Amino acid sequence: GRKFFVGGNWKCNGTTEEVKKIITVLNDAHVPSGDVVDVVVSPPFVFLPLVLSLLRSDFHVAAQNCWVRKGGAFTGEVSAEMLANLGVPWVIIGHSERRLILNESSAFIGDKVAYALSQGLKVIACVGETLEQRESGSTIDVVSAQTKAIADKISSWDNVVLAYEPVWAIGTGKVATPAQAQEVHAELRKWLHNNVSAEVAESVRIIYGGSVNGSNCKELAGQPDLDGFLVGGASLKPEFVDIINSAL
Ligand code: 13P
Repeated sequence: GRKFFVGGNWKCNGTTEEVKKIITVLNDAHVPSGDVVDVVVSPPFVFLPLVLSLLRSDFHVAAQNCWVRKGGAFTGEVSAEMLANLGVPWVIIGHSERRLILNESSAFIGDKVAYALSQGLKVIACVGETLEQRESGSTIDVVSAQTKAIADKISSWDNVVLAYEPVWAIGTGKVATPAQAQEVHAELRKWLHNNVSAEVAESVRIIYGGSVNGSNCKELAGQPDLDGFLVGGASLKPEFVDIINSAL
């Protein structure tokens, strides 16, 4: 079976004091053992050293982005090798906020995923359609093309978790129904089966993100192709612990 995975994407939020508070809640929480669920929290870059130093050892840390290739004269960027050097094991790549607000293309995201993997990082790679794309019936085409742009650049999916995050569900309180999420997750797994391999399709965790909270997580977690969550707003609150516990 695929191990449940719960990621907390803090996005561009937090002060030192708030970070310490969230970490205290997480460190005190009773959760299933690391054999049952992978828990990964993703603070802004500037808080990574603090979180690495304070967070319990059975939870892990992710950056929210990294530079596409080797570091150098790229003002304002943070390279994958710097994250590896700091001891950050995971990085989120291709979040819709970077695709849509920062204009990152699918090809650029594919290159980033490949470079991050080459530096020994594990990657949470995000895909997802806009409301307009869903309403025009192109959801599966969109997420398949986004997945293909990653698959084209990598030779192993061992260190990749695929996050399906419909843009219309992010930060809107409008969560995908369990059936809507399951349909896309099953189609993504089918795409991996047909275009990568049966083994990869069976083993890759496909997690859902978009308005997940302590009340709606349990029903979503029951869907057969849904292997965890990528949580935004609720990952800054104590209810993140309830979401971690939905793996039980
Ligand atoms: P919300 O949980 O705030 O909708 O954000 C989801 C998300 O974008 C996680 O990466």
